[in-house]
Amino acid sequence: MDVISPIDGNKISVVPMSNQAALDEAVNAAKAAFPAWSALTLKERVQVFYKFRTLLEKNIDEITELVHVENGKTFSEAKAEVLKGIELTEFACSMPQLINDEVMEVSQGVECRTSHVPLGVVASITPFNFPHMVPLWTLPNALALGNTMILKPSEMVPLSANRIAELLKEAGLPDGVLNIVHGDKEIVEAICDHPEIEAVSFVGSTRVAKIVYQRATGNLKRCVALGGAKNHLIVMPDAHVEMAATNIAASMSGCAGQRCMAASAMVGVGKVDHIVERLCEVAKAIKVGNELGAVISKAAKERIEKYINEAEAAGAKVLVDGRNVTVAGKEGGFYVGPTVIDHVTPDMAIAKEEVFGPVIAIMRTDNVDEAIKIENASNYGNASSVFTQSGGVARYVTDKVSAGMVGVNIGVPVPREPFSFGGWNESKFGVADITGKSSIHFWTKLKKATSKWNPEAFTNWMS
Ligand code: NAD
Repeated sequence: MDVISPIDGNKISVVPMSNQAALDEAVNAAKAAFPAWSALTLKERVQVFYKFRTLLEKNIDEITELVHVENGKTFSEAKAEVLKGIELTEFACSMPQLINDEVMEVSQGVECRTSHVPLGVVASITPFNFPHMVPLWTLPNALALGNTMILKPSEMVPLSANRIAELLKEAGLPDGVLNIVHGDKEIVEAICDHPEIEAVSFVGSTRVAKIVYQRATGNLKRCVALGGAKNHLIVMPDAHVEMAATNIAASMSGCAGQRCMAASAMVGVGKVDHIVERLCEVAKAIKVGNELGAVISKAAKERIEKYINEAEAAGAKVLVDGRNVTVAGKEGGFYVGPTVIDHVTPDMAIAKEEVFGPVIAIMRTDNVDEAIKIENASNYGNASSVFTQSGGVARYVTDKVSAGMVGVNIGVPVPREPFSFGGWNESKFGVADITGKSSIHFWTKLKKATSKWNPEAFTNWMS
């Protein structure tokens, strides 16, 4: 399959579409590598990731350029993504300090201890929007904990994943510990069905997350599947105008709105015209093609513009219009400018569905409970933020919104390591979060060992 750069529409590479035989080969390699890799101590395994971290730093500009070209986000956004990859790798390096297995004398002379045991061959399926970071949400933690892995990156952005594999090899990762297969639906289904794969992590749209979660768990595998999002920002009239406007504009337009944490709906409570006006000024000043990158494909651009057209036709007011934008010298690229749409009503598609573009739909209410009700009605539940200068209101809203990651005066409330990443409702299926400490439980099974060595040990009904 051709790999197209969204920046100018040019073909940059070709990705092989792996078939069942290629997956079997990858799984066999992962299975063969598992005994030796899992027999190393955790401290030994993380040495690879210390070296990998150094290689990421050494090659940061080249990796950044690759992310920029294959995904279409700006160079500085791509660099931020690689820096986040470094932070994720550092977290994996800290595993020996984090995993304090428990030991306790549970009755006299009898000791119980726990140990985190790797699952075996696991799989990670990733989306197009963070070609470097999302593979590093799962890969370093799963491997550091002793698993071997099949990684299936998005077919739209396969090159960054391939580069990660090359650098891990250079860092000393033994052959077979990480295996990449490429492709789309067919190979994902084969992963979910493969009898030798113990666990599947997935990040992508809710539609596919549901399919993967049902199929993988139907085959009795452990699964965590992160889905799409519709993130609501609740804006109070007392919000700091500049802080609110700049944060909201950055959240809705960063990475061309193709972040599962992007602000997509704003609910203004009471008199917030002054904030909307400033938001429009900030949004208009964003330079498309320079400060705002491309969306992933022609189809994505058409889908986003269709949402705007339909909202306008249904009575919403387009205050800042990003439709029909082209960038000089990159006429073949897929660009949508920042778009602010006011007077959207909760029943419109643009208010309910994931648009995944640099677009914010503004709804208006008279009171904060009504705003919370609108947020709560969403099927999704990834992120939600409130903009206010009142601590009481901030606490009230963050307590009542139905989202896994909440923020106060923050457009993109991503919890950074060691906190874990994961939404609620249809933004995540499965129990564990995908990063941070929560991921340790996902990638391991707990063994509980009870031992008694002294024959004179006190004996009671428990020992
Ligand atoms: P997608 O669901 O189209 O694809 C994700 C993965 O699934 C890809 O590897 C793809 O090859 C595969 N796939 C696609 N269709 C399939 C099918 N029918 N059956 C099986 N596998 C299939 O998602 P995308 O367009 O690559 O990424 C954007 C989506 O990901 C957005 O919805 C975004 O919100 C979401 N996302 C969520 C998070 C989160 O943390 N919740 C993070 C990043 C992206």
